[in-house]
Amino acid sequence: MSEAADRLADVQAHIADAAKRAQRKTDEICLIAVSKTHDAAAIRPLIAAGQRHFGENRVQEAAAKWPELRAETTDVVIHLIGQLQSNKAEEAIALFDAIHSVDRSSLVQALAKACQKAGRQPRLFVQVNIGDEEQKGGCTVANLPALLAEAKDAGLAIDGLMAIPPADIEPAPFFALLNELAERHGLPLRSMGMSSDYETAVMLCATHVRVGTALFGLRD
Ligand SMILES: *Cc1c(COP(=O)(O)O)cnc(C)c1O
Repeated sequence: MSEAADRLADVQAHIADAAKRAQRKTDEICLIAVSKTHDAAAIRPLIAAGQRHFGENRVQEAAAKWPELRAETTDVVIHLIGQLQSNKAEEAIALFDAIHSVDRSSLVQALAKACQKAGRQPRLFVQVNIGDEEQKGGCTVANLPALLAEAKDAGLAIDGLMAIPPADIEPAPFFALLNELAERHGLPLRSMGMSSDYETAVMLCATHVRVGTALFGLRD
């Protein structure tokens, strides 16, 4: 097996273990391989090993890499997990199958317009600033109900919530809070957990985990 296939098998085994401990089914959890900063040559071995969901944090970078990779493997699913500027909403709708970073009113309006024009809507997650950190993206916990109501009024279907917990402290309470918020608003999807904490996230009901370093090695 290639190194990429080894790493993938390892992450999949950890997800399966965590799911089993939480009495969940492994196929309820979507592993997103976060390929930001990695080029097509680094991505192809993972595709060859069967990985299909990938995450990128910048529109420009994804636009440069994925059309070619998509032409080679038509069933890849590309997720935008980084911040999105409203003026790139149209481009993002054309490129991505899912957007995890809906976090403010102006972006809701831009996405609603772009989806209407394109006649399609990617899967959408509202990103919540779950630790109420000043520098972090995401809608505040307090503003979540209003943003969800605005999306509904604009005709956007929101499928779930996404969060990045504060660094260097135990993430479990934040995963539990995101799960509770999703439940409260009747949203089925929860995008949470990265290389250092995806097993905890799986045990706390993540449906999508976003794993970069554990699959690709350290980024520059
Ligand atoms: C980079 C990134 C990840 C992956 O982080 P790793 O620690 O490399 O697994 C997950 N989510 C978001 C939003 C990211 O930007």
